[in-house]
Amino acid sequence: MADDATSVRSVDQRAERLRPFGATIFSEITGLARAHGAVNLGQGFPDEDGPAILKDAAARALREEHNQYAPLGGVPAFAEQIARRARLGRAVDPATEVTVTSGCTEAIAATMLGLVNPGDEVVLFQPFYDSYRACLAMAGATARYVTLRRDGGRFTFDPDELRALCGARTRAILVNSPHNPTGTVFSREELSVIAEVCRERDIVAVCDEVYEHLVYDGEHVSLASLPGMAERSVVCSSLGKTFAMTGWKIGWTVASPELTAAIRSAHQFLVFSVATPLQHAAAAALGSDEAWAWVEAMRERYRGNRDALSAALSGIGFDVCGAEAGYFVMAGTGPIAEKLGVQDGGWRDTDLCKRMIEEAGVACIPPSVFYADPDDGNGHGHLRFAFCKRREVLDEAIRRLRRWLGG
Ligand code: GLN
Repeated sequence: MADDATSVRSVDQRAERLRPFGATIFSEITGLARAHGAVNLGQGFPDEDGPAILKDAAARALREEHNQYAPLGGVPAFAEQIARRARLGRAVDPATEVTVTSGCTEAIAATMLGLVNPGDEVVLFQPFYDSYRACLAMAGATARYVTLRRDGGRFTFDPDELRALCGARTRAILVNSPHNPTGTVFSREELSVIAEVCRERDIVAVCDEVYEHLVYDGEHVSLASLPGMAERSVVCSSLGKTFAMTGWKIGWTVASPELTAAIRSAHQFLVFSVATPLQHAAAAALGSDEAWAWVEAMRERYRGNRDALSAALSGIGFDVCGAEAGYFVMAGTGPIAEKLGVQDGGWRDTDLCKRMIEEAGVACIPPSVFYADPDDGNGHGHLRFAFCKRREVLDEAIRRLRRWLGG
């Protein structure tokens, strides 16, 4: 008979609600890239740190003894900066409408756990960021999906598909714009459709806007700024993408006092509060013209990276989709099928990614993992390449892909 220790070790210990998810694709691809010495254009993180002013402010905060628990809503000076920059179309009260979280990922988790009852439905746009679905599973909610389909150079959705999905059980719609992985920035018209559905059916909009300051074409409009939306939106964002400090894990929510109370009811038991010295540094960053000038320069650098990578991938034969914002470019793989000696559609993007790591020495992300049903919306037909890297890293990846595929 197995003793206790053996049975604990031989059985999958994960709770049933988390078994469908496995390890995140980011850890898996980064591990494979390391093992094969591949250039890693997979996980989206910058390979250069953000501005020195943030590090100096953080070091100062550590030395000045800002090292005990912050208030659970956040350090007041930081909450004030967040409130000042919020785009709800009205003033925001930092004390009752802002909550500082451990990155945007916790912002979304606390929102879902704080607002959603088991059995409620939450609408996601697929492809979706991978944590959303796991969050809903942890909250006991049911995910419903609207598929973003490629229409030339961007991805969009069918308003009727969204309308048909939303009913009496729909508690929230999670809207990620600018969108990861497609790089689409939802237009005012697209957002108006979502706003109308939310208003008509009394649905909360949860807006993941972490790429709000990395827009290259067009303009980012916050769904919360549309008529009637300020009171029914939770706007989630973070410091990491804007200031190239993804490891700081400083995010936040902005929402009405009632929604904020619900978010905080979960946040207080998840993490209670977030790293105090980093919040002081974040307050300094948001209030610093020098830091914002740095962001502006980074955006221009990334625009150049996007253009260079897109042009190179097109030259190699990929059917590149124009990224309007963010860190990533989606490259359609149909046209390279022949070069690889496979039938278009005859592969899974996950297999193609592994082959690219092994044969070309370049890693990227297979977007099918961001779909509930990858066969709907051509989920296997693209690869996601990160361009938030130094130019010489991108150039090396391009050289390797050319060697592999020609072009
Ligand atoms: N947001 C990043 C991406 O999409 C990765 C975040 C993570 O590693 N969890 O690549």
